[in-house]
Amino acid sequence: MIRKRNTKIVATLGPSSSDYETIRALHEAGADVFRLNMSHGSHDEIRERHRIIRQIERDLDGTIGILADLQGPKLRVGTFRNDEGEDIAEGDSFRLDLDDTPGDATRVNLPHPEIFAALEPGSSLLVNDGKIRLEVKECGADFADCEVTVGGRISNRKGVNVPDVVLPLAALSEKDRKDLEFVCQLGVDWVALSFVQRPEDMHEARRLVDGRAAVLAKIEKPAAVKAYDDILAVSDGIMVARGDLGVEMPVHSVPPIQKRLIRKARAAAKPVIVATQMLESMIESPMPTRAEVSDVAAAIYEGTDAVMLSAESAAGAYPIEAVTTMDNVAMSAEGDPLYQEVMEAQRSSTTGGGSIADGIVAAAREIAETTNISAICCFTQQGSTALLVSRERPKVPVLALTHLRGTARKLTLAWGVNCLMTGELHRFKQAVVNAARGARVTGLATEADQIVVTAGVPFNQAGTTNILRVAPCDERLIFAADPD
Ligand code: PGA
Ligand code: MN
Repeated sequence: MIRKRNTKIVATLGPSSSDYETIRALHEAGADVFRLNMSHGSHDEIRERHRIIRQIERDLDGTIGILADLQGPKLRVGTFRNDEGEDIAEGDSFRLDLDDTPGDATRVNLPHPEIFAALEPGSSLLVNDGKIRLEVKECGADFADCEVTVGGRISNRKGVNVPDVVLPLAALSEKDRKDLEFVCQLGVDWVALSFVQRPEDMHEARRLVDGRAAVLAKIEKPAAVKAYDDILAVSDGIMVARGDLGVEMPVHSVPPIQKRLIRKARAAAKPVIVATQMLESMIESPMPTRAEVSDVAAAIYEGTDAVMLSAESAAGAYPIEAVTTMDNVAMSAEGDPLYQEVMEAQRSSTTGGGSIADGIVAAAREIAETTNISAICCFTQQGSTALLVSRERPKVPVLALTHLRGTARKLTLAWGVNCLMTGELHRFKQAVVNAARGARVTGLATEADQIVVTAGVPFNQAGTTNILRVAPCDERLIFAADPD
């Protein structure tokens, strides 16, 4: 399915979107990638959603991406004697400790000894998405005595964020390891890691994934923002996870961080997703707010590869309307000449990498945009050439051709990339014929049109992009030009 937009849409599946009809309608409305959130849902539910997505892919003879999002080392307080929890007020003292007896208005269990080891007087702890703030006054190996600096209701198993400390936590919890193995065996295209703190966290994930999926780092900790360049270098993709980021850092620092993360990801030719609260009000309303529409557009104008829906599609009342809204916002922004100007202005900082592939994709875009070319067709094995073409943000449609299903699925997250499966190729002319046919059957070109084709010869070697050809889409002309 060829979309009329380049920015991709990721939709999280959940109770509002777990049957065949709804998931198919979400895909047809514009969802390119589905997110399986391992923080919610049993393995049986996840397996069933996965099965349905692949069924839809077969039924439509298309390509759909699946991203499995691991919960990560999420910290939570224990339980309270009173199920309703307790109200704690500014100025109160409140203790966190390793004692698992139910809590009261003066204390509660925090079952993480490694946190107590890392805390210092002055550290802040944020409870329940930052609604409650505690400042550590005194602490030891098994307790932290805090002053409440922002009060509120604290109740059973509420999440805890510790922004100022690099926590000595394993990147993947026991649950994450089990979930990771489970989703890799199911067969997903992307595995996202939550609360990444350092590049080593990604090494660990990559070792466990072992080539079965691409790995994506969710940037949601101050430590990850600081170490972003190094984390980006060892990740296949990035998520600007604004939910936790806006808890761990001042909420007004998120927009400049978002811009920087997007630009650097584009420069590195790695897909980036902007996530969380993009159309939050659509959980309950069929109409977004003006501010939300503006937020989605702002991410698109910045050149993000993808925008994401969380609860809007997973648990909201209007999942399909939310996807349609994103689809419309993307087409509107991308149709604006100003958008083209921004994409071009940012390009100068992204090219000049110096490899032959960099040069070829830049030339392909230049030729396609300055002449009457209908599509840039690129042959890709692992997807890296297609990602380089995507980084160019060309005005002309991009068609990636690959014989690897996993590569096509992975590329569903990349800006502007349409994918088509081909057989395994041995000769360049065969590739040109395939590209021309692909451009015609997808409706990107007619027999009267010309395309640009890039490929690497010899064919079955990754990372060898070394050919650029302008070719007619009429097969008779291809053979006439190159009889053997
Ligand atoms: P989450 O991640 O929805 O898994 O928390 C995204 C975010 O924090 O923004
Ligand atoms: Mn998060």
